[in-house]
Amino acid sequence: MGIEIILDKCTGCGLCVKACPFAAINIKDKKAEIEANCTLCGSCVEICKFDAILLERPKPSDKDLSEYKDVWIFVELREKDIKKVSFELATKAREIADTLGERVGAVILGGKVKHLCDDIAAYGVDVIYTAENENLIQYNTSNYAGILTGLILKYKPNIVLFPATHLGRDLAPRVAAALEVGLTADCTGLSIKDGLLLQTRPAFGGNIMADIISPSARPQMATIRPNVMKVQSPDSSRKAEIISIPVDIDPKAMRIIIKEIIKTTESGTKSLDEADIVISGGRGMDSAENFKILEDLAETINGVVGASRAAVDAGWRPRSDQVGQSGKTVSPKLYIACGISGKIQHQVGMKSSDTIIAINTDPEAPIFDIADCGIVGDLFEVVPILNDELKKNLSKD
Ligand SMILES: Cc1cc2nc3c(=O)[nH]c(=O)nc-3n(C[C@H](O)[C@H](O)[C@H](O)COP(=O)(O)OP(=O)(O)OC[C@H]3O[C@@H](n4cnc5c(N)ncnc54)[C@H](O)[C@@H]3O)c2cc1C
Repeated sequence: MGIEIILDKCTGCGLCVKACPFAAINIKDKKAEIEANCTLCGSCVEICKFDAILLERPKPSDKDLSEYKDVWIFVELREKDIKKVSFELATKAREIADTLGERVGAVILGGKVKHLCDDIAAYGVDVIYTAENENLIQYNTSNYAGILTGLILKYKPNIVLFPATHLGRDLAPRVAAALEVGLTADCTGLSIKDGLLLQTRPAFGGNIMADIISPSARPQMATIRPNVMKVQSPDSSRKAEIISIPVDIDPKAMRIIIKEIIKTTESGTKSLDEADIVISGGRGMDSAENFKILEDLAETINGVVGASRAAVDAGWRPRSDQVGQSGKTVSPKLYIACGISGKIQHQVGMKSSDTIIAINTDPEAPIFDIADCGIVGDLFEVVPILNDELKKNLSKD
């Protein structure tokens, strides 16, 4: 069990030295040598062209499960700030850790991240593992996965939670595969039953809610949908222990190079799942061009435009705008549904919004069952009137 250099195969090329984020490999007498601080993260194995590194991690069946303690979260950043979903994860992790009598750990990777520690500690985090390096400023699957895998192998958390965002959905399976543990994707509920993490998620097209457990593997790992967990009020008097992990990333050994980042939204624009106001259009919008009236309204009230799947499938909006079971879950202060019937698959993505306004010509549309305010009428008449009135009133302030 562990890691071994096959001396006959090693050429001393040094690629593994560059690839090791923990600076745990040296070249001695033209052969690679593994140092005691190796975490078994596997970055060297992936880069070695000569199959000269043998890595054997503990199999799930060989693990002493009692050694695994604490509930960890992966903290996702948006540019230089912590994404709201990370606070949701921290709040949930705190609740779970209290039930288990364990600590909450958070991992923050990035360029300069120490100044963010107090922000996440305020949500109940006890220990924060930070790794700072300019090559971690941009998310990079192999660097992030290597470091996180190494940290998990070293510190043995009981549970690791990731956001079910694009980043989390890319990172978590990599780490789970490296650790040979299961991963429950897209959870909408988490609780503890008989000491195990009960991971709840929709299954069979949303017709049932499945409760999933990982009784024999550690850590228990899950990705959690943004906007489904409540965020507790921060307590700025809380402080966390900070453990700085020295990392060394040689750009020459990076297996993935990010050449260009093309943003689909302007910098500073709120994303759909973080917006306070969402105005969504459905099949009732009739065409892509007609969404202009929703964009105008969004501009007036500083909202973001979303869509039902019917509107997305019709090609009127990009897939990233879809709200619902197979799209995004949103939880804004105000959700305005225009020409959306409110089928269950749409409702699951927006029903936790604080206030819901529905505009629909059909008084029997199910969206009215969950709306706080329902307007039975033609959206092409109602939305421009609403926009004009709001403009008049907002200009008075
Ligand atoms: C596995 C699975 C996953 C799914 N995931 C999602 C998902 O993530 N998100 C999602 O949205 N759906 C999802 N669906 C699809 C969902 O079941 C519905 O088909 C879809 O939500 C319907 O979209 P809609 O309300 O826009 O269209 P419709 O159901 O056709 O409703 C259109 C509404 O517009 C109203 N209307 C028409 N003209 C006007 C007008 N001029 N003014 C006002 N009202 C008007 C009509 O009265 C009607 O109520 C999923 C389905 C499955 C099976």
